[in-house]
Amino acid sequence: MTLQMVLDEIHKRPGSGEAIAVVDPVTEEPITEFADGGEQAVDEAVARARASFESGVWQAMPGSERAKVLWRIAELIEQHADSLVEIDSLNTGMTLPHARQLVSASAEFFRYYAGWCTKVNGIAHDIQMTGGVTGSYSNLHAYTLKEPYGVVGLIFPWNGPVFNACAKLAPALAAGCSSVVKPAEETPLSAVLLDKLIAEAGVPDGVVNLVTGYGHTAGAALVAHPGVEKVAFTGSTEVGKQIVAASAGNLKKVMLELGGKSPVLIYDDADLSSAIPMAAMGVFMHSGQVCVCGSRLFVQRGVYDQVVEGIAAVADSLRLGGPKEDDVQIGPLVSQKQLTRVMGFIDEGKRDGVEVVTGGYRLDRRGYFVHPTVLTDVEPGMRLYQEEIFGPVVTVLPFDDEDEALALANDTTYGLAATAWTNNLGRAHRLAKRLQAGTVTLNCQTVFDPAMPLGGYKQSGWGYEWGREGIEAYMQTKSVWAQL
Ligand code: NAD
Repeated sequence: MTLQMVLDEIHKRPGSGEAIAVVDPVTEEPITEFADGGEQAVDEAVARARASFESGVWQAMPGSERAKVLWRIAELIEQHADSLVEIDSLNTGMTLPHARQLVSASAEFFRYYAGWCTKVNGIAHDIQMTGGVTGSYSNLHAYTLKEPYGVVGLIFPWNGPVFNACAKLAPALAAGCSSVVKPAEETPLSAVLLDKLIAEAGVPDGVVNLVTGYGHTAGAALVAHPGVEKVAFTGSTEVGKQIVAASAGNLKKVMLELGGKSPVLIYDDADLSSAIPMAAMGVFMHSGQVCVCGSRLFVQRGVYDQVVEGIAAVADSLRLGGPKEDDVQIGPLVSQKQLTRVMGFIDEGKRDGVEVVTGGYRLDRRGYFVHPTVLTDVEPGMRLYQEEIFGPVVTVLPFDDEDEALALANDTTYGLAATAWTNNLGRAHRLAKRLQAGTVTLNCQTVFDPAMPLGGYKQSGWGYEWGREGIEAYMQTKSVWAQL
């Protein structure tokens, strides 16, 4: 399926709501538009998902058969990798190597969870004596069953469209759930192709149901729907809180992967030849639109000037441009809305007296490009220091000792990721224990694997995705007791 076929297909998608424009962030020109699916499309999708779940066509299929289908999805993703890369790079402006890496990781998620289809089981207990309210029993056999939740709603953002879809769909399918999938309104295109590939791989009708539309219409209807047992959401902390409130109607379970304001600590004994370029790319890659981006940098005073200079030099060396331009390392922000948000934080910081070491401006060309920005003289009370910007902006503060660095790093409502650069092994592992984040990286940054759980401490999330935890998130546990 080519880009043109996806553009034709999206017009046929169900929806009678407002027309939503899909915009190329490099040219600022519309690529296409589609109708908001809204509540009606959600109702229909949930009904199809419910019917498929109750029929057992997927959930009751032997795990070994489900595994083959998941494996086939991985193969089809790889066969259509060029189209997926073209679509996601056009729709988000991300560089071609970045888009290719995410497409390849998408296939890997399906392969990884294909393996789990045959490996998630309950446990068995032989219980000799126990008291019961209706009498006492002996020789009880007890065991647990792991069962799919049922119909799950999968909602995710625009920053890595096909990857965000696959990271949720692979474990949901492996667990046996039926799903309703709602991509971000800015980037619905690759989900249309993925939907076709999933059907072609042999996932039965009604098991995966795509709904396209706005968050406040289609997304909100999905979260409130009484026919949905669980919502798995990736997005901002602000919307995550709305989802918790909206899910109360049927007390559906909620899993949240939310925002971050991740600290990076560079000690004076660190290997700066690695720490400086990696900390720079850890915040500037994909123009900072990465959930774990290290946007708060803390540097021990002895190497502070050197690190600030080094990060600024990397920022100035990066070539920004669209995916079709040569030698591009960083793409634009995804939308005018995101550009307004990022520049709003920067301009407020300037008014409040932060020092702009480099960047701090929109590029003088078409597209939503912001020069990678390094800010110092930042006060901890400032909004740009406390809130997630989700743009190519890093604040840098000095520290003197380990405790001060930890206090600064942990002084945030977020807890998604944290990084320490130090050659002191003991200190590195002390920090790993004391940093309040779901992911801690030591002398490395922005590393991912489907086998490693991802989850947020504090207001960065509820629950865990990926790894064994990732499939268990789509299953509930039943205890069964039997008198022998
Ligand atoms: P967002 O919260 O605005 O939107 C995310 C998704 O939720 C979109 O599909 C949107 O349509 C939908 N949505 C919006 N309002 C809704 C509502 N009321 N009910 C139901 N759905 C609704 O986030 P965004 O701006 O698209 O994405 C950026 C955010 O995502 C950042 O905060 C980033 O940190 C976060 N993120 C987190 C992770 C992670 O793994 N923790 C990964 C990627 C992105």
